[in-house]
Amino acid sequence: MAKKQFQAESKRLLEMMINSIYTQREIFLRELISNASDAIDKIYYRALTDDALTFDRDSYFIKITADKESRTLTISDTGIGMTEEDLENNLGIIAKSGSLAFKKENEAKEGHNIIGQFGVGFYSAFMVADEVTVVSKALGSEQAYKWESTGADGYTIVPCEKDSIGTDITLKIKPNTEDDNYDEYLEQYRLRSIIKKYSDFIRYPIKMDVTGSRPKEGADNEFEEYAEEQTLNSMVPIWRKNKSELTQEDYNNFYFEKRYGFDKPVKHIHISADGAVVYNAILYIPENTPFDYYTKEYEKGLELYSGGVLIMDKCSDLLPDYFGFVKGMVDSENLSLNISRELLQHDRQLQLIAKNIKNKIKSALQSLLKDERDNYEKFYQSFGRQLKFGVYNDYGANKDTLQDLLLFYSSKEKKLVTLDEYISRMPEDQKYIYYAAGESIARIEKLPQTEIVSDKGYEILYFTDDIDEFAVKMLTSYKEKEFKSVSSGDLGIEPDAEDEDHSAEETANGDLFAHMGTLLSGKVTKVKASKRLKSHPVCLSTEGEVTIEMEKILKAMPNSGDVKADKVLEINVNHPVYASLKAAFEQDKTKLDLYTNLLFNQALLIEGLPVQDPVEFTNDICKIMV
Ligand code: ADP
Repeated sequence: MAKKQFQAESKRLLEMMINSIYTQREIFLRELISNASDAIDKIYYRALTDDALTFDRDSYFIKITADKESRTLTISDTGIGMTEEDLENNLGIIAKSGSLAFKKENEAKEGHNIIGQFGVGFYSAFMVADEVTVVSKALGSEQAYKWESTGADGYTIVPCEKDSIGTDITLKIKPNTEDDNYDEYLEQYRLRSIIKKYSDFIRYPIKMDVTGSRPKEGADNEFEEYAEEQTLNSMVPIWRKNKSELTQEDYNNFYFEKRYGFDKPVKHIHISADGAVVYNAILYIPENTPFDYYTKEYEKGLELYSGGVLIMDKCSDLLPDYFGFVKGMVDSENLSLNISRELLQHDRQLQLIAKNIKNKIKSALQSLLKDERDNYEKFYQSFGRQLKFGVYNDYGANKDTLQDLLLFYSSKEKKLVTLDEYISRMPEDQKYIYYAAGESIARIEKLPQTEIVSDKGYEILYFTDDIDEFAVKMLTSYKEKEFKSVSSGDLGIEPDAEDEDHSAEETANGDLFAHMGTLLSGKVTKVKASKRLKSHPVCLSTEGEVTIEMEKILKAMPNSGDVKADKVLEINVNHPVYASLKAAFEQDKTKLDLYTNLLFNQALLIEGLPVQDPVEFTNDICKIMV
């Protein structure tokens, strides 16, 4: 019999399938099962409007039969079937999708879910088979037909025998090659695991005859052989269940079963949205940071299902980077899905879902912060850094979403506080939100620069993360209060009478300060009398945007250029050391230079910066000892 030719586009796709550009060949089974499930859906919807038809759930199922001897794998369904014309139109021409046409027709009946538009669909069978036979009998016809093809050279359709309505698709599995093992698609365990992975939540039973041996009931150490028909899928997905039916344990089990993580999530979010977009989702906020989280290797994303069928493992478009730690899945029935990620990115439905999800995550975090502070802090230990990066990235575009979720260690409370908590405690005369940056809380506590701010009774936020200062620079202010580093030139603290003395002292000894400044030129922009020091002799402060902590971080980054903070050496004029400086200025300039260098190096050390010449520094110390 003469073969009919595939339509040009179908032929191209078919050739692609035969040469299998897809690394994940196993998805062919998902595609065929999903078609079978669609076909059963169609009979179901027909029954809704046709009184002559009753839909008895038990008689609708999908059956998988593997026969190693004949190397065939058969996927049978009791769905609506295909007429000769359907076989011709649906399997010979790719551009026309039967599912899509049906969907249009039935659009009025809301809530019906017919999944179509899977891109490769049926043809994916040719990734694992060199011959595909479809035997089908359509609802309402007496005659069955057989469609057969060995690939791109065309297909035949002939009448045949079939008792019941539905479709049997038989794949003649390819022989193994040196590189590829196809035998696996005839193995029970492999088929079971593929079905579990992709089709667990198909609403109709997927059955298979399985054989094996198992412990005999009531007898120790005895086994029995068995051969029985098993249903491989669990059918009702947890996300379609009612929240009230589910326990915390159910959610935790699902998290574990899905291998979203090995920790216990701090919170789950179960969404059943039926507004502008209809979808179900279960999302989790993990407790622990995955080991690769802050590396390039980490891939964010949610599992994406369409009507219970897994279509993507990690759909990254569903999560903004700053919520990249969220795990879970989304199931939507009104996605028009195509296998290509590129197209998915531009899907409006998907974008709406993503936006919706982002807001849900934000409110979940907010309520965690409000109602379960301990859990929020656990979460924050793991992912706070991510939130701060989120504030900084994209030129601060997401700062409004994230600023209320930030926590910083407080000098007063000795624990993490929110910016809002900080603001609400601020005394009336306090103009700024003060912060001090350093390597650790212990080190910041000892920073001389914090003295005056602390003495004023103002709270200081301690920044110990690289990103903290950068994030805050991006925020610039919170509730109209600007952020201010305790090391910055102008602290915005009203000078008291003593400060006036400092200025007078500086004016009176202008030559001394100028001399020291010249000696340290290139290292500091100037030397001045400090308004912030109380007990320490010296410290460094900065002028301009770049602080010393920022300089350190930028230095550690590749290709960051030579960004430097404009440093100022501040001298405490109430400290006995200052008297020594004055005396040396009068009597012994060599001594003054020695003191100046020593003080500068001390200030560097306090900041956690390396002294410029350690040998010279130790020699200088020796000089004053002898
Ligand atoms: P899609 O499912 O995206 O429409 P496919 O190539 O997988 O594309 O299938 C083409 C069409 O063939 C389907 O839309 C459907 O009308 C028909 N079809 C495929 N498998 C079956 C089946 N098991 N029973 C009934 N019709 C089917």
